[in-house]
Amino acid sequence: MDFSLTEDQRAFQETARQFAQDRLAPNAGRWDEERHFPAEELREACALGFGGIYVPEAHGGSGLSRLDAALVFEELAAACPSTTAFLTIHNMVAGMFSRFADAEQRERFLPRVLSGEHFVSYCLTEPGSGSDAAALKTRAEPAGNAQYRVNGSKAFISGGGVADLYVTMMRTGEDGPRGISCVVVERETPGLTFGRPEHKMGWNSKPTATVNFQDCLVPVSNRLGAEGEGFRFAMAGLDGGRINIAACSLGGARACLDAALAYAKERRAFGRTLSEFQALQFKLADMATELEAARLMVHRAAVALDQGEADATMRCAMAKRYATDVCFRICDEALQLHGGYGYIHEYGIERYLRDLRVHRILEGTNEIMRVIIARKLLEAA
Ligand SMILES: Cc1cc2nc3c(=O)[nH]c(=O)nc-3n(C[C@H](O)[C@H](O)[C@H](O)COP(=O)(O)OP(=O)(O)OC[C@H]3O[C@@H](n4cnc5c(N)ncnc54)[C@H](O)[C@@H]3O)c2cc1C
Repeated sequence: MDFSLTEDQRAFQETARQFAQDRLAPNAGRWDEERHFPAEELREACALGFGGIYVPEAHGGSGLSRLDAALVFEELAAACPSTTAFLTIHNMVAGMFSRFADAEQRERFLPRVLSGEHFVSYCLTEPGSGSDAAALKTRAEPAGNAQYRVNGSKAFISGGGVADLYVTMMRTGEDGPRGISCVVVERETPGLTFGRPEHKMGWNSKPTATVNFQDCLVPVSNRLGAEGEGFRFAMAGLDGGRINIAACSLGGARACLDAALAYAKERRAFGRTLSEFQALQFKLADMATELEAARLMVHRAAVALDQGEADATMRCAMAKRYATDVCFRICDEALQLHGGYGYIHEYGIERYLRDLRVHRILEGTNEIMRVIIARKLLEAA
């Protein structure tokens, strides 16, 4: 078991760190405040190969591993978890195109996704079904001329309104997971409309909106795989998505820990620096220890997914649950250590706290992660 990074891994980690420092960090606070979607910077990230990190080179991607992607996302998220999270969803969908689209679809969709010319959204959640995603109701009926007529709506869609392609899970058959297909709906499709961007606690550098389908005519040739395979594709995408989002939590927590260490050495109280109080030293020690434990779990899950290990889904769920909970707590401790200044926007800590809060809710809530873990444990017992 070798825990050291290869020379290549160090090189693209450094590329990501530089990009994060130069292009994300100076703007992240303003993007959060102004709710600005940084399309230009996201395209620059794609130009560095970060739009399809684990898409094979044969399909035009960077051909790296899930572990490599986790290293990149941690670096980027240390500057801006919200923008990085958008990029992780983009990578998740690019990975789905690469794995599940046929050659014609890959050629039609993937190059512009990888270059960032087209942004993508992943549309699973509906107003009436989130955790119970297999109960979704958006329906695609045969409409003649090799088209589906799609009706329904999707809730909380990241990139809703700004994305060009909506990779949408919809019902083409029976109730339950086997009746679901995965179909790409293009932005210009008549009948595709968007709700107003949600006013959110965090993740403000990207819009989140309801996506509505009213009698949308979509070519059957936009369906990935066969009818009925959509739920499996959606869940397979989410295994990697969970590692990605956990890596964003690592980056955010690391930035907060670094800020707390610097502040503790500089801020004085009762004639000493905060770093001289053992109670605070212990707090910092616990933050660093828990961050390291979370990182190890995320990297282990990434390797399990890369190697197709039988328990990869459970490991991804464990890593997502643990890392997103622990990293949120680290941000909160860092905020506490900053005293009143931690609560002030200018100091940046509260932005990380707000951004990381949602990682415990999406890509499957942390309760659903426990459902997945317990199911696997009991199956094996
Ligand atoms: C900012 C943001 C961006 C998002 N982006 C996307 C996106 O791009 N694409 C997309 O498809 N979705 C997206 N989502 C949706 C997200 O994945 C869902 O909100 C999430 O899956 C939870 O679903 P829900 O909100 O319907 O909650 P519910 O499913 O109604 O759950 C409510 C509560 O009950 C708990 N619960 C439910 N079932 C169980 C159970 N069996 N056992 C124990 N507890 C349970 C949940 O954990 C939760 O605490 C986004 C959400 C947000 C907030």
